[in-house]
Amino acid sequence: MHAISVIYDNNEEPEDYIHEAYLKNTYVNTYKHVIHGIRKEAEWFKTNLKPLEPPPTVTQPGRPKKLRIKELGEVPMSNGRIGHFLKRITCTSCGEEGHNKKTCDRRKELKQKLEKKAIFLFDLI
Ligand SMILES: [Zn+2]
Repeated sequence: MHAISVIYDNNEEPEDYIHEAYLKNTYVNTYKHVIHGIRKEAEWFKTNLKPLEPPPTVTQPGRPKKLRIKELGEVPMSNGRIGHFLKRITCTSCGEEGHNKKTCDRRKELKQKLEKKAIFLFDLI
């Protein structure tokens, strides 16, 4: 900010001291062209060239993982055998399945109501 004040004191413009890349006109000129979206695949140009192949796979360093990545809620079997079962989570607050006490909507509602009451009581004091 001090530099700008000094430039104005010398009856000059701060724009004369910066690179043209930072000027508004440069920004406007960069983005003034219309960028068209890609047409649907049926309208693509057909060539006689072979279709592009994916790049070859490269084996990454390190020992490969042997264990499958478990699904959400999947727990290993208690007898130590290979195989898994899906454990259904039950909310201990409302008893419904599919969420737990921490993510329970009813509990959140109740908490908000209690907080509002607390604020109301606090205002009375
Ligand atoms: Zn719940």
